[in-house]
Amino acid sequence: MAASIHTRGLSKAYRSGKTTTAALRGVSLGVAPGEFAALIGPDGAGKTTLIKILCGMIPFDGGTVEILGVSLPGGASAIKHRIGYLSQRFALYGNLTVEENVRYFARVFGVADYGARMRRLLDAVDLARFSDRLAKNLSGGMKQKLGVVCGLIHSPEILFLDEPTTGVDPVSRRDLFDVVEEMVGAGLTVFMATAYMDEAERAARIIMCHDGRVIADGTAATLAVESGCTAYDVISADPERVLGAFDSVAGVRCANAVGSAVHLVTDAAISESDLRSRLGGFDARIARPRLTMEDLFVGRVARETT
Ligand code: ADP
Repeated sequence: MAASIHTRGLSKAYRSGKTTTAALRGVSLGVAPGEFAALIGPDGAGKTTLIKILCGMIPFDGGTVEILGVSLPGGASAIKHRIGYLSQRFALYGNLTVEENVRYFARVFGVADYGARMRRLLDAVDLARFSDRLAKNLSGGMKQKLGVVCGLIHSPEILFLDEPTTGVDPVSRRDLFDVVEEMVGAGLTVFMATAYMDEAERAARIIMCHDGRVIADGTAATLAVESGCTAYDVISADPERVLGAFDSVAGVRCANAVGSAVHLVTDAAISESDLRSRLGGFDARIARPRLTMEDLFVGRVARETT
């Protein structure tokens, strides 16, 4: 089966006056139909630029892009009705009610018989009871949930989510992911950009980007194995001293004080006894927590940049 999303050597720079900012520097990736892929990276990594290009919203400079087997930029209008898009701040009509907004988007996409789907989607995100509320009176989380409903009303084959939960409360976040995951179960392809590393773990596939490049791509499990990293927590009465002991030490990719613990991400070759000898007899307890997605990301970036 053809990939839902396919790019090769995709590049994009923004030009304004004499300034050129490279946003994407040769991005190659493929997402299969029905996959839930998360694109993670810090602010400025190029996530929004990539999603806008994949949706046919902005031009690119080099490389190739195919969405649902259609080449961009030429096929942008052909994919418009086959994809859904939700940005950080979805453009709803404040003076229309929840239900009127959904009806509006259904009409824009030319969907005739949407009543049952609208009710099911509104119910799934717990918005059915607010059907008559004006969109401008919704909380931030409710607005994003309504955005997802509007983005799904035309039964797209791919849903693009650009940092959909920025500023969204935990309950709305859960509602939002419930409906997205239900749709993935029914065959929808989802491509979600997020700066929240923990959120990415919901996706079966994780694509890490940094400075306009894809730096790692796989499942949480394969990324953990390939990272060659180990995490340690060094707990003591003097975390500042511990932090100092691991400053600029070869094999220590990152060190952060969190309360009484210093959280380390190290090369897998660094053992607990290596850490002890570095501490030089200073009293500390050493624990080995599970590698988080954030550990994997910072560990990978540290490997890139050293
Ligand atoms: P992210 O979504 O990961 O935060 P962006 O795609 O928004 O990253 O930005 C990638 C890079 O491109 C950043 O350096 C950003 O400043 C720059 N950039 C984004 N949009 C524009 C624009 N319209 N004009 C100029 N530079 C831009």
